[in-house]
Amino acid sequence: MNKQKKILIIYTGGTIGMQKTDHGLSPQKERFHRQLEEIPELYAGEMPLWDMVDMDPLLDSSNIAVREWNEIGQMIAQHYETYDGFIVLHGTDTMAYTASALSFMLENNAKPVILTGSQIPLCEIRNDARDNLITALLLAADDRIHEVCLYFGGKLLRGNRSSKFSADDLIAFDSPNYLPLAETGIEIRFREEGLFQPERGEFTLQLLKEIPIGVIKVFPGIQFELFDPIMTEKLKGVVIETFGAGNIPGNADQLLPIIEKAARNGTIIIVCSQCPHGRVSLGTYETSSQLRAAGAVSGYDITTEAAVAKLYYLFSAGLSREQIKKRMEMSIRGEMTI
Ligand code: ASP
Repeated sequence: MNKQKKILIIYTGGTIGMQKTDHGLSPQKERFHRQLEEIPELYAGEMPLWDMVDMDPLLDSSNIAVREWNEIGQMIAQHYETYDGFIVLHGTDTMAYTASALSFMLENNAKPVILTGSQIPLCEIRNDARDNLITALLLAADDRIHEVCLYFGGKLLRGNRSSKFSADDLIAFDSPNYLPLAETGIEIRFREEGLFQPERGEFTLQLLKEIPIGVIKVFPGIQFELFDPIMTEKLKGVVIETFGAGNIPGNADQLLPIIEKAARNGTIIIVCSQCPHGRVSLGTYETSSQLRAAGAVSGYDITTEAAVAKLYYLFSAGLSREQIKKRMEMSIRGEMTI
């Protein structure tokens, strides 16, 4: 069934194609291409046809940001009509950020866009690269998927719900606030009710701008006044990672005037939780209701990765601050549960 499907693989770098060098692991384009040619399963009759384009230069994903997200988005947009699905081979470190960014940038996307990579390079005898790539290819050719996903270690996750959880396990990603879209065992088992229905509008790409935003993680003893100097009108948005359901330490009397000042300056403040599972509920405790009163908005159960990507996206789309605040508290690509 998948025989005639055509998939474009966009190779951005990451461990999957790296080789050992005197300076540590680094991406090696030609050798990676040669290694792929030596995997017969990639050319089997039941696999989709595929082509691969390389990003130049190939990068460790710690170096991937707005410029590269735009480049990947442009490659997808340029080939959107020619291919049935897309794979983005990517380093694991920032894969969840790129997946989140693409989910917002690709407007009315109706095709599978699957990010994958590996913890062990393909060139190693024992590796997770081979299975991640082969399964991602099958998923990218699957008619049921109409969204940006991340496939890794046997789980297909909604891209903008995913986070990297382990620096060394082969099951490195999870989406704790949204069940996996599919899991692989003997068969690939889909959770079909979790999948997006195809978008009906015309596909377009929203490029992102390098918007000045920040992330602050609160901790016991945090000296909020240290952050006062950065809360100028230059700062467009801040994601605050709070305790539990949106709580801040007792020295809130230091923080609240800073948040009020930021809100007056037009900075958008999103409250997220440091707990991977669960949601922010502003107002449950006194310590969190003060945040809302000071002008912050709730990120509910959004990941920090998705909150950052969403801020870039909404500002790049040229919306007013009021419109951005409103959309930060709405699910626009299934990134939060309201
Ligand atoms: N540092 C690598 C990267 O993110 C790690 C990996 O790919 O697993 O590019």
